[in-house]
Amino acid sequence: MLIYNTYSRQKEEFVPLDPPNVTMYMCGPTVYDYFHIGNGRSFIMADIIRRYLSYKGYNVKFVMNLTDIDDKIIKKSIEENKDFNLVSNFYISAFFDDLKKLKVSEASFYPKATEHITEMIDLILTLESKDIAYQIDGNVYYDVKKFSDYGKLSGKNLEELESGSRVEINEQKRNPLDFVLWKKAKEGEPSWDSPWGKGRPGWHIECSAMSCKHLGQSIDIHAGGNDLIFPHHENEIAQSEAVSHNKFVKYWIHFGFLNIQNEKMSKSLGNFFTTREILKKFSAESIRLFFLQTYYRGPLNFSEELLQSAQKGFEKIENLAQRIINAYSEEGNEVNYPENFNISGYYFDFEKAMEDDFNTSQAVAVIFDFIRDVNKILSLEGKKNRAFLDDVKSFLTKTAQEVFGIIHFDQLDEKEKDSNLEDDLIKLLITLRENYKKEKNYAASDHIRNELLNLGIILQDAKTGTTYQRK
Ligand code: AMP
Ligand code: ZN
Repeated sequence: MLIYNTYSRQKEEFVPLDPPNVTMYMCGPTVYDYFHIGNGRSFIMADIIRRYLSYKGYNVKFVMNLTDIDDKIIKKSIEENKDFNLVSNFYISAFFDDLKKLKVSEASFYPKATEHITEMIDLILTLESKDIAYQIDGNVYYDVKKFSDYGKLSGKNLEELESGSRVEINEQKRNPLDFVLWKKAKEGEPSWDSPWGKGRPGWHIECSAMSCKHLGQSIDIHAGGNDLIFPHHENEIAQSEAVSHNKFVKYWIHFGFLNIQNEKMSKSLGNFFTTREILKKFSAESIRLFFLQTYYRGPLNFSEELLQSAQKGFEKIENLAQRIINAYSEEGNEVNYPENFNISGYYFDFEKAMEDDFNTSQAVAVIFDFIRDVNKILSLEGKKNRAFLDDVKSFLTKTAQEVFGIIHFDQLDEKEKDSNLEDDLIKLLITLRENYKKEKNYAASDHIRNELLNLGIILQDAKTGTTYQRK
């Protein structure tokens, strides 16, 4: 299996550190608002990669952190005149709700920054003891000149980074690129005790501390959006490797931006849709399919038209899944297993696509070819071959359901139950209407007929009784 590694800027064979175990860390949200569908793209694509690794038989431990202390959280808590904990806890629970609705599988663990302050202080102390970190007036900084590999991930040297970056001039720092590890508390801000006085951790040290605590000093995969390559991930490497002297991450995976008119969707630009808003119009399956149809590393422009066409694609998968369920109960003679139908060929093509750096658009194309071929076979007369139905259902379950999350067989059963309930309710109304007619209460009986018509149900009276049809 090939994975594009941002660190080496090429596709590399995936060989985990300790097979069949795989450790994977993903930079999670800063919880000061509902997450937008651009964040959603990164969360979903990380979920797909994790699910594919499980499909391959790896035992994946997946950790996603929650940044629950940060300038933006403090700003919001001041605006809303609430404790910062109330703000972060509110958005953490909204985050979990939305992830669940997007059908993103639960991580093995979601560590919170505020619960790892001790680990962060320990890391900073080690850096200080090696003279890599320095303290000035209650703030602690990382001296980037002390880490010779600084810039390797983003592919830049220190001079290029210095001239290209918009780092604010801070007289305290030795070098403009030095970044903060510990921030001195300002009046009224949430703070923790530390050897440097009251303060709070910088953002980058959070991920070094939490990934080390929960996954160890060296991990297989670290993922996040493209915006995190520099400085966040560059700084994580500098912190973790200066402490452990081990390679921090074997494979760096970065997700392309979801854009709006070629501009990154972001809260600060205000050009975003929350995941909640989008979920009101589109199913999780359609949203997932929309993302899967583009290479995860490239940019993708958001548009409702594209989501609508993904919705149509989803309906095709759903129709086939429903057809398979119905075919099991069809009357008629069992026929032979269809000639020329080679189930293993579809698995082969699906895996081939996924193993080329998770080429999900190609893998989705394999699923649609499969749907087309199976639909053709199902249109033939006679009861279907049971082994064939089993193979079809199993392929869709393993690929479209378990890896991609773009079909859910159990939901079809729910839909079936819903439509049975609907039929029963209509029949009940028909009986009520007949009773009214017998009582010559035509106003009431006509009312039922007209209201049902408004709902798209047409009643047809005949000598044998009343039947109904959907418009
Ligand atoms: P944040 O809450 O801004 O820290 O972002 C959470 C995750 O979403 C990070 O992995 C970001 O890199 C990612 N992200 C932010 N904006 C976008 C976007 N427009 N498209 C894709 N991923 C994004
Ligand atoms: Zn991070």
